[in-house]
Amino acid sequence: MRLLLFDIDGTLLRSNGAGRMAMTSMLLEMFGTTGPIDSYRMDGKTDPMIITDLLTAAGIPKAQIEAKLPQAYQLMAEKAVAIFPERALTPCQGVLPLLEALRNRPDVILGLLTGNVSLTAPLKLRSAGIDPEQFVVGAYGSDGADRNALPAVAIARANQLTDHGFTGTNTVIIGDTPADILCARAGKATAIAVASGWHSANTLATHRPDHLLENLADTEAVLRIMLGEAD
Ligand SMILES: [Mg+2]
Repeated sequence: MRLLLFDIDGTLLRSNGAGRMAMTSMLLEMFGTTGPIDSYRMDGKTDPMIITDLLTAAGIPKAQIEAKLPQAYQLMAEKAVAIFPERALTPCQGVLPLLEALRNRPDVILGLLTGNVSLTAPLKLRSAGIDPEQFVVGAYGSDGADRNALPAVAIARANQLTDHGFTGTNTVIIGDTPADILCARAGKATAIAVASGWHSANTLATHRPDHLLENLADTEAVLRIMLGEAD
């Protein structure tokens, strides 16, 4: 039995700026500033980390930001409901057939490991035509700003839900950034890096993932890797 934990942005889908728009709209309404959002790299980071980085750069005290995070997540989800249908969120290459192939397999549990907060993750997935219900566990940015702490959260939730006794050994983390690879390492999980986001395969290779793919298009090959049959 394997626990497959998917990153969202750049791995399952491209939000084509929609996530950034929802964040911008929330920041302006709640804090009156976006900080240096135009030059800020969001990929691989959790939403609370992004919000804290941007607002501390704008001079807002950390404690004040932290106290308002739950309210910020709520407002960001409200913005997302309005913005996402207007933008073309698209599934990454091969994702829909891969999820279809994984859907009814008895030997995998599907989950999410994402910097998105738990309120916006399903909105994003649904807007890209991906059914969020197929992911039975998740660890989100709203669980903690440190991505490296999230594998343990997802594994604990999977173990509450099932009796498979998941550890890092039978957990696979699929993501598009060096941060996803490091996070898999932190959780002692297998790292599958996919160059469908903002990082080239060459860049990802320098972080030594267990497996490196250009995209998830070859369903059969990807399945073998995910199920540990490719080594
Ligand atoms: Mg990503």
